[in-house]
Amino acid sequence: MRDKTLLELSRALAAKEFSCLELTQAYLKQIETRNPILNAFISVTKELALETASAADTRRAKGEALPLLGIPISHKDILCTQGVKTTCGSKILHNFIAPYSATVVKRFEQAGMILLGKTNLDEFAMGSSNENSFYGPVKNPWDMERVPGGSSGGSAVAVAARMTPAATGTDTGGSIRQPAALTNTTGLKPTYGRVSRFGLVAFASSLDQAGPITATAEDAALLMNVMAGFDEKDSTSVDIPVPDYTQDLSKALKGKVIGIPKIFFKDLEPTMALRIEAVISAYQKMGAVVKDIDLPNVSFSVPVYYVIAPAECSSNLARYDGVRFGYRAKAPKDLYDLYTRTRAEGFGPEVKRRIMIGTYVLSSGYYDAYYLKAQKVRQLIRQDFQKAFETVDIILGPTTPTPAFKLGDKIQDPISMYLSDIYTIAVNLAGLPAISIPAGFIGHLPVGVQMIANYFKEDRLLNFAHQYQQVTDWHKKRPKETS
Ligand code: GLN
Repeated sequence: MRDKTLLELSRALAAKEFSCLELTQAYLKQIETRNPILNAFISVTKELALETASAADTRRAKGEALPLLGIPISHKDILCTQGVKTTCGSKILHNFIAPYSATVVKRFEQAGMILLGKTNLDEFAMGSSNENSFYGPVKNPWDMERVPGGSSGGSAVAVAARMTPAATGTDTGGSIRQPAALTNTTGLKPTYGRVSRFGLVAFASSLDQAGPITATAEDAALLMNVMAGFDEKDSTSVDIPVPDYTQDLSKALKGKVIGIPKIFFKDLEPTMALRIEAVISAYQKMGAVVKDIDLPNVSFSVPVYYVIAPAECSSNLARYDGVRFGYRAKAPKDLYDLYTRTRAEGFGPEVKRRIMIGTYVLSSGYYDAYYLKAQKVRQLIRQDFQKAFETVDIILGPTTPTPAFKLGDKIQDPISMYLSDIYTIAVNLAGLPAISIPAGFIGHLPVGVQMIANYFKEDRLLNFAHQYQQVTDWHKKRPKETS
């Protein structure tokens, strides 16, 4: 039963093939056997899961028909869960229990889904390999010596190794799409403002967005039906109607125009390019038309991001001072000692690096040269996409420059680590929605293809993704369970 999609699980539960409790037990058992090796979960909420699963069985028996009622889910450990630890992958929040749940978490509760646990991540979602977690790296089930991608690596691996049928992730510069690509899962980063950020612990507030990581595009649509929508508690969430994301999945793609940005292929390894070209031909067979496009300012995305994201993070992370919550340094001499030692002992090296870059680019004398300049270029990047979407329906390219790299390979070299996101970061700077779906293998390692759509066109992305998954089996491939 663990291999079923959400839709199949929903049907099976309705047909009483098995109970919510049996289903939940099956995933908990898989977590017990696989998690000690893969380290995808920071917390497993076993008792709570069993309790809510039994309650879901009672509700179903009484005739409640919510489609996801009694189906398990796992949340990235940066979404606040009332009564359950939220660590953000950091020592500084190792004992933090949020007094309220994120809106996203609440919505899944209201949909009747069962929380299995909180998944591992790079500290405060800063990273591309999951090696920045205080709780240790996550392993890629396709190759235990390789990274699963980050920062939502725990969620992606939990789905890939069938420890959960679906999970949430967050994406500030690629953290849903990049791990999805490296683990053969489907990951959707929604339009900025489409999903509430209330209770999502902030990294870079103008870029962060939560979204689904699933086995199929159809499953992502089902989760989006729950996640998306206005929230008065998040002033950046947008008050426009939410479509039924499953409605357009089967729409024909004949005549649709796919834009191919030349810049995404310029330095792409030939083996990667081959995979992406195969995807393009599959769409052409379905009747889509291909067009080359220019995104002239997108090459500045990584440097622009590494000014703006650290600037926002330095401000957002100022609250961790040992006074209100989380880790507190022992026996401080005075208030200054409390602040500095709490932060020195509580944050890991990558977070410290970002805070230092952030405070630097925001300091007087440098603000105009770095922060303001970066904001201006960000605007140009946004305009590039707007221009492109005047003539194309979707933009397609690789999600990552390479398949999963080896643990330890890039951790000493931040620039090469930052370049893991060269194809994903522009999307966050522009606030656009994008999806990564399985696109085949290079050797034994999966690769992903990324599609980007105009604002609030998640339904179009899901339509394209679903159509590809109707004619290919990549997304059905599962890693072997070796130790
Ligand atoms: N890898 C990027 C970073 O380190 C993006 C992370 C993310 O999307 N949360 O900031």
